[in-house]
Amino acid sequence: MWLRRDLRLSDLPALAAARGTDSSVLLCFVVDPRLEKSSGERRLAFLFDSLREVDAKLDGRLLVVRGRPEEEIPRLARAVGAGSVHISEDFSPFGRRRDEAVDEALGDTPLEATGSPYLVSPGRVTKDDGEPYKVFTPYFRRWRDHGWRKPADSSVPDSAVLDPSDVTKSGRIRIPKAPTRLSFPAGEDAALARWAEFVDDDLADYDTGRNDPAADVTSRMSAYLKYGNIHPRTLAADLGRSDGDQAYLRELAFRDFYADVLHHWPHSLWHNWNRQFDDIALDTDEKAYERFEEWKAGRTGFPLVDAGMRQLAEIGWMHNRVRMVTASFLVKDLHLPWWWGAEWFLEQLVDGDVASNNHGWQWAAGTGTDAAPYFRVFNPEAQAKKFDPDGEYIRRWVGDTDADDYPDPIVDHKAEREEALRRFGEI
Ligand code: FAD
Repeated sequence: MWLRRDLRLSDLPALAAARGTDSSVLLCFVVDPRLEKSSGERRLAFLFDSLREVDAKLDGRLLVVRGRPEEEIPRLARAVGAGSVHISEDFSPFGRRRDEAVDEALGDTPLEATGSPYLVSPGRVTKDDGEPYKVFTPYFRRWRDHGWRKPADSSVPDSAVLDPSDVTKSGRIRIPKAPTRLSFPAGEDAALARWAEFVDDDLADYDTGRNDPAADVTSRMSAYLKYGNIHPRTLAADLGRSDGDQAYLRELAFRDFYADVLHHWPHSLWHNWNRQFDDIALDTDEKAYERFEEWKAGRTGFPLVDAGMRQLAEIGWMHNRVRMVTASFLVKDLHLPWWWGAEWFLEQLVDGDVASNNHGWQWAAGTGTDAAPYFRVFNPEAQAKKFDPDGEYIRRWVGDTDADDYPDPIVDHKAEREEALRRFGEI
């Protein structure tokens, strides 16, 4: 069983498939230097802490190696005489290429995918004519017609889990030390505990409270979902028909939708989904880089933008409403390429996920499927008045915005809004 984005032991269909009727199972993880390089420190810390938990639950029998999976997995399969290698399916462009390479390198040993990190896997929700959806609401209607498994017991008897020291020692590494401290704990136990707390305390108010960044009543499940510490069906199984529950289900569908978009249009990872926008004028001169630095540091002089960017830098997570405001500001007020912002988010976020992040950015930039129309430009002050009326969120992350060392606005929002519309008008 090759673990990747499914770092848990319960409700893991691929593990149940690996066990089959009576097979022994070796559980392994490959630390891929390419992913180490492209993941921010917080995501690596989350990953390594999650691995440590799995290893502890297996009494030290998780085999961790470092290298290229297309070399390491066949090597391990040969060393243990594996009849098959089991995975949960990965749909990211990188993951698909990697898995194809591993499958080929495995030769006659089958690579078997069971389940995925989604409620409804990418590619399954289509229109009657088989075409993919480009707009979320009709996608969601169809998505709801699909069933998903109920959470099931996938536990494997202790005696069936192979001890790597008995079968292969070669290449085994210690789980690397987390490169930074996390502001909330990783792992399956923490995910289940946080979910139970959210259901008890906040789910009923989710529908009304989810846009209030100061109230902080969202579930904070995103990083757990990213690393598969918990599967969304475990969450969906607890949801009923109330407004809060249904609003939550809709957000889980959003996660599936963006993965589906990436599956059908892999170019939208780092390029405009809508190529019509490729010709828009963007600022990339020295001044643009300076402004980008000010945006990253939370020193734009727009309190809600700065609060969000400081929350991101401090804890590696930002409230969804503020993600939208900070993203819109980078694109529409500073005229910078959305992918600059998307890359910074991925470096900082503990829940950084290319499908949700890059399509969230394209939504804000107006270049994606189902995007905000190009003429909708968030006014950061109006957004603050509406969603943080008492300034509580801003005070929490910025402190006193009247203080001498708080910067003046780096741009004039009204003028930049006009400028953004002018540039859109040109194309
Ligand atoms: P909750 O409100 O409790 O939502 C529950 C779950 O639903 C989330 O954990 C998430 O898995 C899913 N979800 C909610 N909103 C969205 C959405 N808009 N798109 C996709 N899934 C959603 N989410 C990520 O998981 N990783 C990212 O890298 C990421 N980057 C984003 C960048 C931008 C510019 C924007 C606008 C949004 C981004 N999101 C991303 C979506 C959303 O902001 C986060 O999922 C959410 O804030 C996570 O907090 P939560 O778990 O408390 O959310």
